[in-house]
This record gives sequence, structure tokens and C-alpha cells, in this order.
Amino acid sequence: MRKHIVAGNWKMNNDLAQTSSLISELKRQSKTSDAEVMIAPSFTNLWHAFESTREDDIEVIAQNMHFAENGAYTGEVSASMLKSIGVKTVILGHSERRAYYNETDESLTKKVDAALANDLRVIFCFGEELADRKAGNEETVVERQIKNALFHLEASAFKNIVLAYEPVWAIGTGETASPEQAQDMHAFIRKTLESTYGNAVADDMTILYGGSVKPNNAKEIFGKPDVDGGLIGGASLKAEDFYAIVNAF
Ligand code: PGA
Repeated sequence: MRKHIVAGNWKMNNDLAQTSSLISELKRQSKTSDAEVMIAPSFTNLWHAFESTREDDIEVIAQNMHFAENGAYTGEVSASMLKSIGVKTVILGHSERRAYYNETDESLTKKVDAALANDLRVIFCFGEELADRKAGNEETVVERQIKNALFHLEASAFKNIVLAYEPVWAIGTGETASPEQAQDMHAFIRKTLESTYGNAVADDMTILYGGSVKPNNAKEIFGKPDVDGGLIGGASLKAEDFYAIVNAF
């Protein structure tokens, strides 16, 4: 049975007081599903979030990191810094990082390697843009993104990878991929993994869907056989909405 995960990507939202109050509200929610629950606050609030969820069934994860171990990289945070405060999982390759901060397959390869070398689990994001889908190129784009950043890894490394398919046209737009579109792509991703790494790696891989997942569509999307959870942006900023999604499994 594959692991189910619902991760809230808070992006650049919530100062310290807001982080604190959202976490208090999250703790008041009840969880009825088997999904692992994760939240990704900003760097400045990671330690606070980590400390205040020690006793809870909520994992605090990071939204990004640099590939270098340390050094002259003003404004950056390394894998070992994340690890030193107890973070065990990092999101890499989010489409906003790719679009606004020039993250490329090459730089992401280095980030993936640095994270894994520090025993961090990686939630690796990728997905096609609207123009790719309109041109019927979505599978080619997705295959290239995954292969370029991940297919240098040994099969055993994949136990520390979670994949997050996020079609760029569905992120923050209110437009979701249909459950069928999500399922088709997730099945394609699993097949791509299988053809290089075999059945076991492909079968065990948790593949999340992200892009306008809301309480009213989560059940249908999570109901698809190859969808193992979600990466949730906007709807993760409200405790009731987030847990309605968590409990959609
Ligand atoms: P959204 O964001 O749920 O607000 O569309 C998803 C994401 O960017 O991970």
C-alpha cells in the first residue's frame, strides 16, 4: 500500500503570529484519514512551527533550499541548516521557483543530490505549462523534467523521493486538472519510472497532484488509483479546508 501524503505549501504567506495561530487551528482539527500531513511555512517560521508541532501528527517541511553545503550564497539556506532544526523533507522544483528564480533541471539535479546526501526526503515538483498541453506535449515535458533531474539516481534513492505533478496552468488559477487528466499523467509517470527502475520502484512511488485542490474536488482527485495525495497551496491556509482535503482519503 502506497503512502498517502497531503502537504500544505504556504508559499510566502503567514508571519510569525499568523503561523502560530494557523498551527493552533490545525491542531484543533481531527484527522480521519491515513494521509501523512505536512505543512511548509516560510524559513523564518520553520523553527517555531517545528517546536510547536513536536507532539502532533504534522510534519514541518521546507519550501526550498540551496545546493551548496555552506559558503558565500547571500540569502540562501542549506540542507544541513534545515536538518539541524529537525526538518526532514524539502520541496524542490516548484513551478514558482522555476519561473521566478530560474531553477533549471541542472540546478535541481544538484539540489536533489544535496538533499539526499543530507538524508532529507524530497518532494520533487514538475508539470507542463498551458502551451505544452495545448500542443499535446505534456507527457514529453514531464518526462524530460523527471528524467533530467532524477534519473541519474540509483533505484534505492527513490525511497526518499515523492513526486508532485503540478500542471502550471492549474496552480493558483482555480482551474484544476480533471481527475482523469491527473490520473492519466500519474499513470504515465509511473510507467516512466517502471521502464527505467522496474516495477517495485514505480509501484511504491507516492505521486501527489497539485493545482487548485480544494475541499470540493479533493475526494474525486484522490479517488484515482495513481493519485496518492496532494500538494495544496491556497486551501492549505485555512485549517478547516486543509483538513477537509486531508480527510478526503
Ligand atoms: P494551489 O497551489 O493549490 O494554490 O493551486 C498549489 C501549489 O502551488 O503547490
